[in-house]
Amino acid sequence: MVFELKNIYKDYLQGKEAVPVLKDISLEVSEGEYVAIMGPSGSGKSTLMNIIGCLDKQTKGSFVFDGCDIMQAKDRKLSEIRNKKIGFVFQNFNLLPRQSALENVELPLLYAGVGKRERRQRAKAALEKVGLAQRMMFKPTQLSGGQKQRVAIARAIVNNPKLLLADEPTGALDTKSGDQVMELFKELNDDGVTIVMITHEPDIARCAKRIMYIRDGELHGEKAGEQE
Ligand code: ATP
Ligand code: MG
Repeated sequence: MVFELKNIYKDYLQGKEAVPVLKDISLEVSEGEYVAIMGPSGSGKSTLMNIIGCLDKQTKGSFVFDGCDIMQAKDRKLSEIRNKKIGFVFQNFNLLPRQSALENVELPLLYAGVGKRERRQRAKAALEKVGLAQRMMFKPTQLSGGQKQRVAIARAIVNNPKLLLADEPTGALDTKSGDQVMELFKELNDDGVTIVMITHEPDIARCAKRIMYIRDGELHGEKAGEQE
């Protein structure tokens, strides 16, 4: 089991009023799964991603990540989980603009206290994995959107996380680069990486093995995705 959400609610305060954004969401994700969560704008996808990513806490309900009860966990424990167990991929890449691809990919290892030699070696291997062996010293401004996203993916997997969590990973990409990123996700999942991906594009969601739908903060049925 990677994580389990049970009867999760999330309210946001708007003025004095608590507005419910996630309503009674339950979801269990096991090792090796590849799940897409789809839903229209404003349905609560990013809110859910922030909870799964231990960036925010639910208002009510239980969330257990890799055996840890997140509601009870202290900030220190939460940042440890974020740094060591979750690889994040965002729509806008979130790379450091002044650092090379290699330095960007080394960052999570630096936070995890890995020594310089090993950092270099593992970051290089991750960049090779995403097909950017020839671009390691390039800065983000010297890379295309698709290449930037592949650097971000290398950074997300360099720590061998329990979960790769992606919020609209193809949202800022043209179709071809988006397809390449999906190809890469499939390879990673074939290698055993557990993936949860948030998207509002049906064609992208179909790359996953399981699709969930969120609407007005409620997680509705699930249909089998494309399986090969
Ligand atoms: P999009 O596809 O546009 O990214 P989303 O599905 O990710 O949308 P969320 O960002 O999760 O949607 O937002 C869900 C609802 O919660 C929206 O109505 C939004 O206005 C509200 N919301 C999100 N964050 C906050 C916040 N920090 N404070 C108050 N309301 C919020
Ligand atoms: Mg969003």
